[in-house]
Amino acid sequence: MPELPEVECVRRGLLRSLPGQEIATARVLWPGSVATHTPEAFAELVRGARWGVPDRRGKYLILPVPPRCLVVHLRMTGRRFAAPHRDDEWEYHPHTRLILEHTDGSRLYLRDIRKFARVYLVEDPLSVVGALGPEPLAEDLTAEVFDALLSRHRRQIKPLLLDQHVIAGLGNIYADESLWVAGIHPLRSSDSLSALERVRLYKAIRNVLSQAIVDGGSTIRDYHGADDRRGSHQQVLAVYGRRGRPCPRCGSEIIRSVVAQRGTHWCPTCQPLPGLQP
Ligand code: ZN
Repeated sequence: MPELPEVECVRRGLLRSLPGQEIATARVLWPGSVATHTPEAFAELVRGARWGVPDRRGKYLILPVPPRCLVVHLRMTGRRFAAPHRDDEWEYHPHTRLILEHTDGSRLYLRDIRKFARVYLVEDPLSVVGALGPEPLAEDLTAEVFDALLSRHRRQIKPLLLDQHVIAGLGNIYADESLWVAGIHPLRSSDSLSALERVRLYKAIRNVLSQAIVDGGSTIRDYHGADDRRGSHQQVLAVYGRRGRPCPRCGSEIIRSVVAQRGTHWCPTCQPLPGLQP
């Protein structure tokens, strides 16, 4: 959290407010937020730079400030807010870690309760995101390419989907939701999936992520879009966070257990585990 849909929604929000704005000052309120520079060096390098067009790779925001680039990972509790002017609640909030002020007085804030969010100021974004797997919504990630991707591995399917080097952007929520849509138990070995199941999973991932973007993302704990609004996709989640509640498809009780250290939700009827009782 936030995962691909939430980061994509932030990107789209920033697309409206950021490009062309000139950075007047940068204040790094918690030095650990900037992974690559001291607060002073960071402020010096971005001062006078103009934002280019925001991009995204997996769960990373890529914000060009030519000739450099800010790569931002919001991790668990990171929130960005593009404010049209100084916003005192954000300006003085104890969890505000970074404030970028533009020459027209608008601001970009980074607030982060748990201090996990990271900003990288780099010349080439690939130095941060170069090892990521393919984008799940990219046109060139066809069902055949996805199939080939899975066939290179022999691991439990849930941790495989969470591995950002295999496929970029899925986290706990959308991995659980995609597996439910596809009717695949999270503990299945990736090499045990039939050709039909692999196609179902491919379609499920793309549909689940696309719909979540349309809904403005899922606000489970802290996620808010760039305009600080909450998403609504949490209201339609089928399994994630719904332990003990009925499966929307069959009415069975949703089960939660821990898979590879992550809380994992599934329906014991729609997602059977061959040879094992769930
Ligand atoms: Zn079910």
